[in-house]
Formats: sequence, structure tokens, C-alpha cells
Amino acid sequence: MQDIIVIGGGPAGGSAALFAAKAGKATLVLDNDHGLTKRAWLANHYGVSDISGPDMLAIGREQAEKFGAVFKQDKAVLIESGSSSVTVKTESGDSYEAQHVIVATGLAVDAAQQSGLKLKPGTEPRVKTIIDTDDKGRTSADRVWAAGTAAGVSMHTIITAGDGARVAIHVISELNGERYVDHDIFTG
Ligand SMILES: Cc1cc2nc3c(=O)[nH]c(=O)nc-3n(C[C@H](O)[C@H](O)[C@H](O)COP(=O)(O)OP(=O)(O)OC[C@H]3O[C@@H](n4cnc5c(N)ncnc54)[C@H](O)[C@@H]3O)c2cc1C
Repeated sequence: MQDIIVIGGGPAGGSAALFAAKAGKATLVLDNDHGLTKRAWLANHYGVSDISGPDMLAIGREQAEKFGAVFKQDKAVLIESGSSSVTVKTESGDSYEAQHVIVATGLAVDAAQQSGLKLKPGTEPRVKTIIDTDDKGRTSADRVWAAGTAAGVSMHTIITAGDGARVAIHVISELNGERYVDHDIFTG
């Protein structure tokens, strides 16, 4: 069983996976390679000079993989929430179990809808429907969280990536039973 399954490997999901894996959590990312970021040129991500979307995604994935996150290309179609775990079923017929699931599917909320998660109208331009969450990113289903565009935040990589990290920190804190902070120290 995974500690955390992240559905979606864009800036929100990739960043959530990076934090989760770096915290030592067994982390699986399911992504079907239909994200927005592939088409973006980014000149407004603080601390990063101009970069293409595909390069940002590749670097983010490498960072998460370095800490042990596993990426699989597949589409999640059903999220079944139980009292002690969550099962994610995919288009290719596979089934995965985790203690918690973070949904970071960008504009696509079909899997969330199919799974009965509560949705609501989006407020950002071109975002019709989002997943309803509380202030920590919890959805209407036990152990299922949402982050990034799918959860209605402003569609900019620094914000969606930050939101993925924010929600992952809440999930890690819940797993650890205490508030989690990830700080490395520069000694040079
Ligand atoms: C043309 C364009 C230009 C842009 N320019 C900028 C810019 O200059 N600056 C800026 O800050 N932002 C820009 N953006 C916005 C930026 O790309 C988004 O903020 C960001 O990509 C959203 O991140 P996300 O992780 O929420 O969603 P996404 O990047 O869309 O990632 C969602 C991921 O989930 C996957 N997925 C969806 N459903 C499933 C499923 N059921 N199972 C498995 N995987 C699934 C998708 O394949 C995708 O990889 C631009 C976007 C576009 C389209």
C-alpha cells in the first residue's frame, strides 16, 4: 500500500509528490500526460529564469523521483474512499491503494465527478468546475484531498505548485500526527 497517491503530475501534483516523497512517504503519481503546462512558456515563476513548461515538468519530476516517488502513465477513473484507505482504479485496469489521495488533475474533474466527490463552479477564467475543498484541501470524501487548478486556485505555476506543496504538508502532518516542516540548511 502507498502512503500517498497523487493523481496528476503537473506543477500541483508534482510538487505534492516532491514534498511527500522527501518526507519519506511511499508516493505514487498517476498521470495521463494531458496537462496545461506542456503548452506554457514561464517567465513569472519566482526564482526561476525563463523556462518552458515541459522543462519545468521534467525537472520537477526528477526532483520527486530523486526522493523515491514513482510515476506511472495512466488515467485514474475511479477513487473509492474507505475508512482506512483509498483505492484508485485506472483506465488500464490497474488498482492501487493508499492511505491518502491528492487529486491534482488540472482542468479535468471527470474522475472526481465519477467518484462522487462534491464539485462546485470555478471562479478563475476558463475554469468551469472545481472540486469542493475545505481550507486544508480536504474534499467531501474521507482521505481524499485536492490541490491546484482542480481545487480552484489561480492558474499560475508558482501558485499551483505552492498549493500542491501546501496540501501535501497537511497530508504529511496528518500521517505523522504532528505538524510537518521541511527545511534544509545552507552551510556554505
Ligand atoms: C498556453 C498556456 C500558457 C501558460 N502560461 C503561463 C505562464 O506564463 N505563467 C504561469 O504561471 N502559468 C501559465 N500557464 C498556467 C499553468 O500552466 C498552470 O497554472 C498550471 O499548469 C496548472 O497546474 P496543475 O498542476 O493544476 O494542472 P496541470 O498542469 O494541467 O496538470 C494536471 C495533470 O493532471 C493530469 N490528469 C488529469 N486528469 C487525470 C486523471 N484522471 N488521471 C491521471 N492524470 C490526470 C494531466 O495529464 C496533467 O498532467 C499557462 C497555461 C497555458 C495552457
